[in-house]
Amino acid sequence: MHVNVLFPINAEAFTYLVPEELESKIKVGMRVLAPFKKGEKIGIVAGFGTPPHPPLIKGGQRRGEITLRPIEAVLDEEPLIPENLLKLIKWTGQYYISTSGLALKNAVPSGIFEGKRGGKGRITYDDIRPVKILNLNSEQKKALSEITDVQSGAFLLHGVTGSGKTEVYLKAIEALGDKESIVLVPEIALTAQIIDRFRSRFHEKVAFFHSGLSPGERISQWWKIKNGDVKVALGVRSAVFAPFKNLGLIVIDEEHEASYKQFEGLRYSARDVALARAKIEGIKIVLGSATPSIETFYHAKKGNIRYLELKHRIEQKPMPRVEIIDMTKEDKRALSYSNKLLSVLKENVSRGRQSLIMLNRRGYSPFLMCTDCGYTYKCPACSITLTYHKDTKTLNCHYCNSYLEPQDFCPECKGAKTKYIGIGTQRIEEELRALIPELSLKRMDRDTTKRKLAHYRIVKDMEEKKIDVLLGTQMVAKGHDFPDVTIAAVVFADVALNLPDFRSSERTFQLFTQLAGRAGRGDIAGEVYIQTYEPLHYVFDYVRNHDYEGFYKKEIELRRELSYPPF
Ligand code: ADP
Ligand code: ZN
Repeated sequence: MHVNVLFPINAEAFTYLVPEELESKIKVGMRVLAPFKKGEKIGIVAGFGTPPHPPLIKGGQRRGEITLRPIEAVLDEEPLIPENLLKLIKWTGQYYISTSGLALKNAVPSGIFEGKRGGKGRITYDDIRPVKILNLNSEQKKALSEITDVQSGAFLLHGVTGSGKTEVYLKAIEALGDKESIVLVPEIALTAQIIDRFRSRFHEKVAFFHSGLSPGERISQWWKIKNGDVKVALGVRSAVFAPFKNLGLIVIDEEHEASYKQFEGLRYSARDVALARAKIEGIKIVLGSATPSIETFYHAKKGNIRYLELKHRIEQKPMPRVEIIDMTKEDKRALSYSNKLLSVLKENVSRGRQSLIMLNRRGYSPFLMCTDCGYTYKCPACSITLTYHKDTKTLNCHYCNSYLEPQDFCPECKGAKTKYIGIGTQRIEEELRALIPELSLKRMDRDTTKRKLAHYRIVKDMEEKKIDVLLGTQMVAKGHDFPDVTIAAVVFADVALNLPDFRSSERTFQLFTQLAGRAGRGDIAGEVYIQTYEPLHYVFDYVRNHDYEGFYKKEIELRRELSYPPF
């Protein structure tokens, strides 16, 4: 008997012999211990098959016989990796022109291959808040019933920000009865509030996967799913590989988010892997967004995906008013703030309300330049311009995280006229502190949220109204539900608009619409201010009018003309 064993390494399966006494015990999906090079390794049984042919040599002859080695032990009594998950792992390796082994490594925590069972680390969150009992409105009810009516198929749930999409997901999960579900959300930074909502609904029946977990925590979450202790896995992209056996539904919240793509190791899109898993499992999948990706909306229009729409905000709350501020007309009293924005921020604080400010670039200043010779500091390893960080007084590489200390004189011409060029979140924070000193101000970007739960704490402080103005990168635009936020602003919209990417208009539209969606969720209508040097750019008309369809029509024609995706 021959067995194909998959290891969590960048390779396809290896073939071994099965000793007679193990033949009755070994099954697909179990772990086995097998000799590997001079040592041994734990792998997963991927299938049984015929022995491989010896490699061909010149002239089409085969060179001798291959001597196969026997596996040493079968480590499980029941298959560890469910059959459908194993299929998905193989599909992923093939589809992304990678290997099944690398897909396995990505899908299963490494501790599983070291025979570890549980983790020590415990995650501590605050107490669960009581569940608000909600009656779905008619749009939500209609969407929910279409989802619950079927066993399988893909849906796009297109609902404006604050239309109650999350509530539809929660009810759809409850309606599954005994079946399990996976909910994907974009990266941990964005999930603090959603974690609370799921915990208060499903208590201990939820497992969480995010980048803040220690290896031990990851393994214990994995075993909880495996052992059937939980019904829901909520997490970032790797949660798509949760080892459920009786899956009924996959939800992808904010399906348009770029962070569903992984760019290291196995390159994959969790959205597309989730669609594949739903097919393999024969179950339903819901893609939710206020601003669907152009590709998904295109497929919904063509009828490949069923289209569900929530047109209105909960309780018919109005969409926020959006004002575009032309920065070329400003008499500059401040580097990054228009007079209008400063005055509305001041007024908002005096009324006890909160504001969000976004600039899509972290650090203090995107580069330092010698104005005598034009020298700029670059990363010696990546050739990328280094970003100045004022808190650490270093020049950081945003690719490889290495850093330099700037010198007093230009390394090239020894001149002393080095200038900060451009603005980042640290700089607009410093400037705002000087302009309105009485503000209670917090910055949220990748630098202030590195430590475990740091993001969660900022969100809590926001909820408890210890913060007047939350300022930061796109992190401030995502997913939060703060009822007292009435103003949202973009400081320098041109950063997002001018990325050299065919999706830059789409991303800008999505980002600004998401940000606008944070304002006016409570009783007072929201206002959005977008500062730009290019006020006539077509994206702004659609953002101002909350006109997704209009934007889609314009964008899809450009895509068609230039043969960009989905064409
Ligand atoms: P979305 O995910 O579409 O942005 P949410 O699901 O976060 O919207 O809903 C926005 C707010 O409205 C939340 O505070 C939520 O608790 C509340 N909400 C959702 N559905 C209802 C409902 N049917 N009745 C009252 N409040 C609701
Ligand atoms: Zn670098």
